[in-house]
Parts: sequence; C-alpha cells; structure tokens
Amino acid sequence: MADLFDRFESLLARRDSLVGDGGRDPFQVEMDEVLSQTEAMIGNRRIILAGTNNYLGLTFAPESLQAAHDALDAAGTGTTGSRVANGTYSGHKALEQALCSFLGKDHAIVFSTGYLANLSVLSTLVGPEDYILMDADCHASIYDGVRMGDAQIIRFKHNDAADLDKRLARLAKKPGNKLIVIEGIYSMLGDKAPLDEIVAVKKKYENVYLLSDEAHSLGVLGRYGRGLPEEADLEDDVDFIVGTFSKSVGTVGGFCVSSHPQFDLLRLACRPYIFTASLPPSVVASAKASLELVEKGGALRKRLIRNAERLHSGLSALGFTLGGEVSPVVAVVAPEVEIGVAFWRGLIDGGVYVNLALPPATPQNFTLLRCSLCAAHTTEQVDHIIEVFAEVADSLGILPEQPKKKVALG
Ligand code: PMP
Repeated sequence: MADLFDRFESLLARRDSLVGDGGRDPFQVEMDEVLSQTEAMIGNRRIILAGTNNYLGLTFAPESLQAAHDALDAAGTGTTGSRVANGTYSGHKALEQALCSFLGKDHAIVFSTGYLANLSVLSTLVGPEDYILMDADCHASIYDGVRMGDAQIIRFKHNDAADLDKRLARLAKKPGNKLIVIEGIYSMLGDKAPLDEIVAVKKKYENVYLLSDEAHSLGVLGRYGRGLPEEADLEDDVDFIVGTFSKSVGTVGGFCVSSHPQFDLLRLACRPYIFTASLPPSVVASAKASLELVEKGGALRKRLIRNAERLHSGLSALGFTLGGEVSPVVAVVAPEVEIGVAFWRGLIDGGVYVNLALPPATPQNFTLLRCSLCAAHTTEQVDHIIEVFAEVADSLGILPEQPKKKVALG
C-alpha cells in the first residue's frame, strides 16, 4: 500500500548514500553547549564555530542581553499573536523607528523572520501585470516569495548588469512595474552585487524599482554598517531594503524599509505579516540594542574584515579554490559531494564547524564548505581553522603538492 511518505524515497536514498553510514550528519548537528560567540561543545569536544553568520559577535553583547532581560520582565515571554489581530507592543514601534533612523528611510515594517520579510514583500508588492527581475543566485526566501505572488518572474545572470539591461529593454514597452531584486552580499559565495552598474541600468528605464536583501551585508559593509548601499554611496537609489536580525544583529526577525509614501499599506496585504505571531518583546528589545551597536561597530567591522582577509589568504595559499572575493563568507569549493561530506567530518574531528552546502541549493551546483567569520574570532582561532583545513586536505589526499598551486579543490 502506498504511504504518504513514499514520495520522499529519493530524498531518503540521497541522504543515505551521503551520510547514512553512521558517521556524523552535517545537517543534524547538535551544539550541546554554546560557550561563546566562537565556541561550542559538541559532545565532549570543544569546537570553533566558523559557520554562524554571527558576523559582529553580538549574541552575547551585554547591552543586548540586558535589554532582552528587561523586556522579558516587563512584557512577558511572548505576544501570543499577530500585530494585526492581537496588537502592536511599544517595542515593535520603537524598533521600527530605530530602523528608519538607522537606514535613513521613512517607513519600516518588522517581520518575524527575514524569510517572512521576503515572502511578505515579494508576494504583495508586485501584481499580475508586473515583472520581477531577480538575480539567479538569490536566496531561497526570494524564490519562495516571488512564487507566492502573481508577478511574472524573470531571472537574470548572476551579477550581470548587461543581462539585466537586455531583459529590461525587452520589457520597456510593456505596461506594468518592474522590480529588480538583488542581494548586497550573496549568502553562499560571499560575493557582492555590482550595485553601481545595477543602479545605472535601473535608471535607463521607467517604472523600475530596486530591492536589495542586505541579510549578509548589514553590519558588515559601510562605515556605519548600513550595508552595500552605504558602501557604494547609493542609498537613495535602493527603493526597498530587506534585512534580517539573525546575522549581524545576533537574534531573530526580519524587516523591510522604504521611503515610498504608501509603504505602510503592506501591513494590510502581507499574509506572512497578518497571519503569524509577532516577535516577542525580549527579541525586539535586543534587536534594537544591537542595532545601536551595529551603527557604532566600526572597530568590530575592522576586526571582522581582518579575520576574513587572514582566512581567505591562508586558504588560498594552501591551494584551495574559494568561491568569491574577500568577505566574511569564505566558501571553499570541494570537487565532489562525497569529498565535501568527508571533508566536513574531518573538520569537525579537528575541532572546526563550518556549513556544508550541497547542490542544487548552491550556485553553479558547487559543493561548498562555507565558513562565516566573526569579529570575535581571535587570530589564533583563524590560524587554527586554516591548519585544520590543511590537515584534512592532507589526510584525504587532496592537498596540492606545490603550495600556492591552485589544483586541488574544485
Ligand atoms: N535572505 C538571505 C539572503 C539569507 O541568507 C537569509 C538567511 N540565510 C534570509 C534572507 C532569511 O533570514 P532569516 O534567517 O531571518 O529567516
């Protein structure tokens, strides 16, 4: 007899063939104890965390912890409902105001996660007569958001403004609005969008809007951490900024900001805003406290970039193929999926946790050992990560014989 779960057979077979040998499963890691922003216990092994997205290391910032404790005591453990049905707490409004002043936009809406922010905005902002032009490497939440809406979806080649231009030119005579969707820093390879080129293309056409998902660039890029638009000095040219509190801000939640005068109407239209519970007071309070630290976090950004440069140059000197330019996301390309899994396990055995990312969820179907760095990593920790990468490559017999010769991985 057919079982409901029969349809997952191929998924199960793939999982079994990759990790079903009783070895550690990269997708079911349990952190038994979190020791700090950069270390955890897995079983009785002390592990350096090099795959957290905790870019500025704010998860234990005293100001944010204190704000969370105070809000917990004052307003309880949760809001027990959505803002539309059950009301907005003062903390939600204060956080939205803080986002407006930090990012220099007139309006902000806070969502329960970054994923829900993308679902919300992308499914409602554009309608059946409109077009979404999205970068092919956009995050799953962007793919899911556009699928939930009725706009016509067009993908352009990753970071290719000329391809975007060609596609917009074809639409120039069509009525309807066009929304370009990009990311500040792409999550898997850590590469940046060519914002200046994209803005130049946008300006050639009418009724074109630009949305940038700054999930990985907020807190990281720009003197004050306002992301790629700040770094590129193009803040007024980005109509909608989506972001998350789950990376540099060190907690959970998402947002969208814009100066469009009618932006607040989205509160009446976005199902993932209306039909899910709002963020609890403690999370909202710590996000607001952390945003202030992000803005003042110039020294943290410098340490983060120093760590990123050290890891990037250390790994590339060993001969690893890296996915992108220097950024807090350092993605090592493995030659095949099986080696990726073995490599990941070797890293854990050597005391280093990174993210394993497998096709088809990766750009160019790469198998990636994706590291993300933290301002709180010490130089010794970064050096240890490099050493363990070298040891594992050696034990798997995939280290190039000549240092600096780029032949081994990828
Ligand atoms: N956008 C991008 C580019 C992301 O990488 C992520 C998370 N990995 C999200 C959105 C979703 O953020 P959240 O974790 O807050 O749901």
